[in-house]
Amino acid sequence: MTLDFKAPKDCLKDKVILITGAGSGIGRTAAITYAKYGATVILLGRTTEKLEQVYDEIEALGAPQPAIIPMNLLHLSEEQALQISEKIEQEFGRLDGLVNNASILGTLTSIEQHSYETWEQVMQVNVNSTFLLTKHLLPVLRQAPKSSIIFTSSGVGNQGRAYWGVYSVSKFATEGLAQVLADELEGTNTRVNIVNPGATRTAMRAKAFPGENPNDLKTSDALMPLYVYLMSDASEAEHNQRFNG
Ligand code: NAP
Repeated sequence: MTLDFKAPKDCLKDKVILITGAGSGIGRTAAITYAKYGATVILLGRTTEKLEQVYDEIEALGAPQPAIIPMNLLHLSEEQALQISEKIEQEFGRLDGLVNNASILGTLTSIEQHSYETWEQVMQVNVNSTFLLTKHLLPVLRQAPKSSIIFTSSGVGNQGRAYWGVYSVSKFATEGLAQVLADELEGTNTRVNIVNPGATRTAMRAKAFPGENPNDLKTSDALMPLYVYLMSDASEAEHNQRFNG
């Protein structure tokens, strides 16, 4: 249903939307697409050059000027999360959308063989930093008339599968965080939903399935009707839902 959403041209006009992992993959496509629909996008990611390329692409479109936050989520502290929120408050006065998209895959291996170092890193990037950012952005999300949070899960985020290790566990935790928060925000101006993008042609997918032909997969663009829908006011009644891309 939502994948058929025909987005009106200016449906994200005047919205301020932060996307994590905006330098490549699904996050990059979402950032550029949101800008095309009129949003001011805040690009957060760990590789500054990639963020600058997205920035330039958005400027070339004549879309609203984006903002860049270079940040390695592996090392995000609570203090830094607070500073990001304060900066957004000062610059924009509110936040209309948050796309918790950045993630790492770790190593696909058995639990018995799993390295604890990888376990900690994946939990840090996929879960702990998502918690910290979301927690500290809630006050600015509350300042918007209607705000929307997307948590990004996976096919292994609600059904465990052998050898998907900490990535699968981190996505279960992501879904848990989203559900707890959604229940707490019931009846408020902030809606919370989960997206499982499904197999999509990106670097992460190629790492997980090296033998697969990328041309057999949908591109990130195919997900955009859903991603735009969830950030536009057309989805204001959607809350505590899980969408498959
Ligand atoms: P991707 O191409 O690997 O992109 C991930 C993005 O996250 C990149 O921009 C990356 O930055 C950023 N990132 C990774 N570690 C970071 C860190 N420590 N700090 C800041 N940014 C960091 O992956 P994708 O396929 O687009 O995945 C996007 C989301 O969809 C993820 O949550 C993933 O789990 C989920 N997902 C994807 C698929 C699929 O088939 N593609 C399926 C199910 C779920 P750099 O570019 O600088 O590395």
